[in-house]
Amino acid sequence: MSEESKAEGKKDFIREIIDADLASGKHTEIVTRFPPEPNGYLHLGHAKAICLSFGISQEYSPAHCNLRFDDTNPAKEETEYVESIQEDVRWLGFDWGENLFFASDYFDQLHAFAVQMIEMGKAYVDSLPPEEIRAYRGTLTEPGKESPYRDRSVEENLDLFRRMTAGEFEEGEHILRAKIDMASPNMNMRDPAIYRIRKATHHRTGDKWCVYPMYDFTHGLSDMIEGVTHSLCTLEFEHHRPLYDWFLEELDTPCRPRQIEFARLNLTYTVMSKRFLLKLVENGRVSGWDDPRMPTISGIRRRGVTPEALRRFCQAIGVTKFNGMTDIALLDFHIREHLNAVAPRVLGVLRPLKVVITNYPEDEEEMFEAVNNPEDPEAGKRAVPFSRELYIEQDDFMEDPPRKYFRLAPGREVRLRYACYVTCQEVIKDEAGNVVELHCTYDPESRGGRTADGRKVKGTIHWVSAKHAVPATVRLFDRLFRVEDPHSEEGELEEHLNPDSLETLASCWVEPSVRDQPVGQAFQFERLGYFCLDPDTTPDQLVINRTIGLRDSWAKQAKKA
Ligand code: ATP
Ligand code: MG
Repeated sequence: MSEESKAEGKKDFIREIIDADLASGKHTEIVTRFPPEPNGYLHLGHAKAICLSFGISQEYSPAHCNLRFDDTNPAKEETEYVESIQEDVRWLGFDWGENLFFASDYFDQLHAFAVQMIEMGKAYVDSLPPEEIRAYRGTLTEPGKESPYRDRSVEENLDLFRRMTAGEFEEGEHILRAKIDMASPNMNMRDPAIYRIRKATHHRTGDKWCVYPMYDFTHGLSDMIEGVTHSLCTLEFEHHRPLYDWFLEELDTPCRPRQIEFARLNLTYTVMSKRFLLKLVENGRVSGWDDPRMPTISGIRRRGVTPEALRRFCQAIGVTKFNGMTDIALLDFHIREHLNAVAPRVLGVLRPLKVVITNYPEDEEEMFEAVNNPEDPEAGKRAVPFSRELYIEQDDFMEDPPRKYFRLAPGREVRLRYACYVTCQEVIKDEAGNVVELHCTYDPESRGGRTADGRKVKGTIHWVSAKHAVPATVRLFDRLFRVEDPHSEEGELEEHLNPDSLETLASCWVEPSVRDQPVGQAFQFERLGYFCLDPDTTPDQLVINRTIGLRDSWAKQAKKA
C-alpha cells in the first residue's frame, strides 16, 4: 500500500461504496479503469482521476485498474498520445500490468451488440439530415419529436446498417440510433446516436471500419467486457448514467459495472482542456505539450516536480461530488514540501556580480565543505571550490542599503555560505555608473564560518568561484495565466495568458557539481529555489528550469495589492 493511501482520515464516498460492495458480497474483486481519449497529453485533472482509479486498485486486494484508450473517434487520435499517456501514468507511479486495452479492440463486439439492439427493436437507422436530427431533439424545456424513420422494420434497419457498415453511404446520410424516448426530460435519452458513418483511417483498425460507435454506447459496454466493477468518471457524465445503465439492461449483460461520478479538478490560474492546450501548442504559445509552464503531467515532470508531490496533492484534495476551484498554491505547497525533503542543495548565481578578494593569493584555491541536504543527514557533504574571484548575486549587494538590508554593502561584512567572511572595500563602476565589480577582503581566520574574536555578521550570501563555475542558461517560469479564473473572464482564453510566464537568464554561473545532476531531477539553489536540468542541456551548455521558488511570491504580491 502506498504511503499516501495509508494516510489517516475519513474515506471518501467512493471508497465507502466499494467497502459496502465487498461487505455485502456483491463483489469479491475490485476492477476500475482509467479511460483517456488519445487526443492530447494528460493534464493535472487526469492525474486526479489516475490517482483515484489506480489508487483504489492498489489499496484493495484482489483488485486491478485497466488502462483503456477510448479511441472511438478515428480522426482525432494519434500514436504519439498513446505513448505519452502510458509514460505519464507510469511516471505517476502506477502500473496496469497486463491490463492495457483499446476500445477499438471491441469494435467487432460492439458492432454485434448494435445488430442485437436492432433485432430487439431497440435501435433504428435514421436518415434525417444532421440539422434536422438536431432540431427534432427538442430543448431542455420542450420534448423532442420522433423521426419519421423511427418505425422502420427490423429487416430494413438491419439491411441499412449492413450497408452503412459496407461503406455504401456517405458521412451523415444515415445514423444508427437507440430507440428510447424522444420526450425524456434527460436529453441523453432522446434516441441517442450509437453508430455513425466516419470515413477516416483509424490509428489501430486502419480502414477496416467506416462506421464507428459513439462514446456512450462504447463506454459502458467496454467496462462490461472488461469486468469493471466501479467505473469512476467526472460529474459531467452524471446525466449519461441512465443511458450507460440502459444499454447494459437492454442487452441483459452478465456483468453490470456501476458508474460513479466525482468532481473534476479545477485549478486557479490554469486551464485544463486538451482542446485548449492543443491550441497553445499549435499556435506556438508554448514550446510543446511538455513546456514546463503547461499544466500537463509531462510539463510539470520537465519542470522538476516529483510524482510524490503530485500524488500527495491529489490525496490532499480528496474526492467529492461538488465542483469547486482548488488554489494552485496547494499544489505548490506539496511541491515545495517534498523537494525540501529530497532535493540536494547546490550553489548557483543567476544574475552575477563579480567579486575580487584582493587579499586572497591569485594562484591559490581551496575547497570548502558544504552540506548536501540539511533535512537528510544521509545526503552527506561535498567540496565546493573557492578562489580569488567569485560571483555573487547582484541582489546581494546594495550601494546604499535601506535599514534591515543585511547583505553586502560598502564597508559591510557578510558570511559567504560554507566559506568565510568578506568585507566590501571598493565598488567598481563602468562609465554609465553601473556597478560591475566589487573588491573585497576576506578574514583568513573565518574559514568554516567562525571568527577568532567571535564577532557576528547578520547576512549570509551564496557565491560561486569564477574560475570553477560552469555557465548555464536558466529559465524562470511563472504562471501561464495572469488571472485566477480564466474561464470567468471575457474574451478569448488566450488573451489572459501571462506575457511574463517565461524569463530566460543566459549568463548564470553554477557550481561544477550541477553538471552531475540527473536531468529532470530537482535540486535546490540555496536561497533561490528548486531547479532541474532540462533535456535541452548539451555538454557545452547547461539549460536549467526553475521548478518553483522557495516561497510563494504570488501570495505576497496579492497581499500587497
Ligand atoms: P478534457 O476535457 O480536459 O479534454 P477529457 O475528459 O476529454 O479531458 P479524457 O481523456 O476523456 O479527457 O479523460 C479521461 C478521464 O479523465 C475521464 O474519466 C475524465 O473524467 C477524467 N478527467 C478529465 N479531466 C479531469 C479533471 N479536470 N479532473 C478529474 N478528472 C478528469
Ligand atoms: Mg473526453
